Amino acid sequence: MDPKSPRNHPTQHPVTVSGHRTLSPGVVELTVALPTNETFSFQPGQWVNLGVDLTSQGLGLLTRSYSIASAPGPDDRAQELSFAITRVPGGPVSNYLCDCRPGDSVQLEGPFGFFTLERVHAETPMLWVATGTGITPFRSMAHSLGDSRGKASPRVQVLFGTRTQEDILYAEDFGAMPGIDHQVTLSRPDENWPGLRGYVQDHLDALIAARPPEHVFVCGLSDMVKAVRAHLKEKGFVRQQIHTERYD
Ligand SMILES: Cc1cc2nc3c(=O)[nH]c(=O)nc-3n(C[C@H](O)[C@H](O)[C@H](O)COP(=O)(O)OP(=O)(O)OC[C@H]3O[C@@H](n4cnc5c(N)ncnc54)[C@H](O)[C@@H]3O)c2cc1C
Repeated sequence: MDPKSPRNHPTQHPVTVSGHRTLSPGVVELTVALPTNETFSFQPGQWVNLGVDLTSQGLGLLTRSYSIASAPGPDDRAQELSFAITRVPGGPVSNYLCDCRPGDSVQLEGPFGFFTLERVHAETPMLWVATGTGITPFRSMAHSLGDSRGKASPRVQVLFGTRTQEDILYAEDFGAMPGIDHQVTLSRPDENWPGLRGYVQDHLDALIAARPPEHVFVCGLSDMVKAVRAHLKEKGFVRQQIHTERYD
């Protein structure tokens, strides 16, 4: 591993919330501004710890991990970071973050993680599988593949699973990217939904047959990640081809 890799230099920053928008009924996108006098670089796919002071609720300082949804930027140095946060019923940190407003302060530590494209050649056929806010690391990766467009043409199939049409996240980003085939499957679609239906696991065979991937990246809650991994192993994929990130 490159000793200068940003993943080896996690740093801690107090950051200020600079943006807040509702992405779906249960998900908020939070943007934080990084201190201008410090450098923050990361690999798309990495995550950070966000710490919030919940002393007033008797909980003290609580920290949770969140994947970075934004791309590093043209010079690989981010000035802002965005996160997509699922509001977990009864969850102290996700609810606090979903209710944050511009100007609020949060502790940020990172970046961390190995769920990146660092060792994958840009032209390698890939399948990215996500449910819910598990799509966020792929949004960061997709934007950075976009930045390198012209140098190489990525061959990426994205399979995103969620419940209903209003829960779809970042469709405008993936839909607009050349070289990326974006498929959405809904587990509770209404009758007019023209896309795929069911769970992500139901569509793996068809996507693999259409464009066999060399690497598969999977991100979301454990049950889905385990089910997809087991399915891929049955299909003959080996450990080195399967990259996973689990949120619980
Ligand atoms: C590497 C990593 C990256 C992560 N990135 C994200 C991210 O980009 N966006 C995001 O929303 N969360 C992400 N998470 C989950 C996040 O860290 C918290 O677990 C989540 O926000 C719940 O925290 P809480 O304090 O509100 O609730 P807690 O009381 O800590 O958790 C309650 C329960 O919620 C469940 N849970 C955790 N995440 C979810 C979820 N997304 N949907 C439904 N149930 C969940 C867990 O099973 C947990 O037991 C990530 C976790 C890890 C380990």
